[in-house]
Amino acid sequence: MLISYETFAARARELEKTIAEFCADAGRLASEVKLMAVTKTHPPAAAEYAARYGLPCVGENRVQEAVTKIEEARTEIPWELIGHLQSNKAALAVRNFARIQSVDRKKLVVRLNECCERENRSLPILLQVNAGRDSAKFGIPPEEAAGLLKAALEAPRLQVQGLMTIAPLSDNPAVARTTFARLRELRDELQDRYRIALPELSMGMSADLREAIREGSTCVRVGSALFGPRHP
Ligand SMILES: *Cc1c(COP(=O)(O)O)cnc(C)c1O
Repeated sequence: MLISYETFAARARELEKTIAEFCADAGRLASEVKLMAVTKTHPPAAAEYAARYGLPCVGENRVQEAVTKIEEARTEIPWELIGHLQSNKAALAVRNFARIQSVDRKKLVVRLNECCERENRSLPILLQVNAGRDSAKFGIPPEEAAGLLKAALEAPRLQVQGLMTIAPLSDNPAVARTTFARLRELRDELQDRYRIALPELSMGMSADLREAIREGSTCVRVGSALFGPRHP
């Protein structure tokens, strides 16, 4: 069961306040941090709520689940892919997502570029980095990120906007904070090395927003704090 719109809106307002406080603590402007609503496991109406409230985008982690929802939802809100993308679903992803945050290997870069050629579109992407070196997470190891970036910069249809990471699950906030700091430092290195701008740092979920904002997040991806616990 999806919560009511009123409950959603109250939580979104609360969350925006919290984000603004974390930004103030970090000496940052609240306008630097975008709030993405993660609608996975929730019905299409969840995306309609996000659009009605005025959030900038929604995130989904599975291609097939998302495509069904995108077809059913009555909203024009941009959908972004934040979960692992198999190469054989690249074409479907290119047809349905405004941006893909989970690009984590060269083969996928090549495949996405080919699919974009065919669709005659360009595709904004983020490179997913396993900045916490967590064996349970996807993402390219930090030391291989430069090679992946080079491949993406050579793909004319792809626009690399920045990096994305998921912190390892931990009760200790220092684990998330270190992970996010590492992603920011890696971004800074890559910007210098390739003389490009990588403004987007997609990091932080319901449980680690404070650490993410402190370390420079520009896009927090929030599911459970908006919609409640995930449905199986
Ligand atoms: C599910 C998910 C989120 C949101 O997680 P919550 O803890 O529900 O806020 C963020 N990012 C990714 C990649 C996810 O899969």
